[in-house]
Amino acid sequence: MILEAVARTKEHPTAETVYQSLKVQHPRLSLATVYRNLNQLCEAGTLKRLRLTDSPDRFDYNTEPHCHLCCSGCGRVIDLEAVSLDWNALLAQPTDCRIESCEVSFYGLCDHCAKDS
Ligand SMILES: [Zn+2]
Ligand SMILES: [Zn+2]
Repeated sequence: MILEAVARTKEHPTAETVYQSLKVQHPRLSLATVYRNLNQLCEAGTLKRLRLTDSPDRFDYNTEPHCHLCCSGCGRVIDLEAVSLDWNALLAQPTDCRIESCEVSFYGLCDHCAKDS
């Protein structure tokens, strides 16, 4: 049910948002339980954790590499589908380090906020 709450939105919810969205129907649910389950789902690779500047961790059902835009106007984190990177080429860069994941986040205004400013 916690997984579904993340899966049914493209808003990249925080643990708090997931908790708020489930609390009405599940009054006995605690925020700690939501955190614990989200952590487990991330460890299992079912969800992706987004560590963003100036925002609590957010959770993404789309675990494929993709870019995000963090909007400083409305606070939303949206998928930037228009920006395509050659992830295979990026991750294939010769290095002695073992790369396990890669995140690209852009900071600015989303289309709605950019229109209004
Ligand atoms: Zn915005
Ligand atoms: Zn995303």
